[in-house]
Amino acid sequence: MAKTRQKFYKSIPELPKAMQTKKRKPKLMAVVEEGNCTGCQVCVPFCPVDCIESVATEKYPDRPIPPVQIRFNECIGCQICARVCTQLTWDAIRMMPTAEFETQFGITIDTPA
Ligand code: SF4
Ligand code: SF4
Repeated sequence: MAKTRQKFYKSIPELPKAMQTKKRKPKLMAVVEEGNCTGCQVCVPFCPVDCIESVATEKYPDRPIPPVQIRFNECIGCQICARVCTQLTWDAIRMMPTAEFETQFGITIDTPA
């Protein structure tokens, strides 16, 4: 039992030691399934570029806590938020290939100069 617990905690990503910024166009994009997200914000401090924020409360007036969203142009596609959400909470973040994301959402992700 103790070994299982140790293994579980080891698999949780570390909190970032310093904030990073995007250096190249990411291959993957994090997308929050807002209907599945509790707004618990457990994922927020794990993001190495600090690009996860709460959705404006006006968008979900019937929910006491709004879900979170990603500032897509800052995301580096590291997948940490998806791992954290899956392991600790609700499995509300999916990773999508960036090209598929751009087509589906009509958003172009910047390539840093
Ligand atoms: S950890 Fe998951 S459920 Fe909690 S705020 Fe982040 S995406 Fe939403
Ligand atoms: S994949 Fe998640 S944790 Fe990584 S940069 Fe994007 S939003 Fe932040």
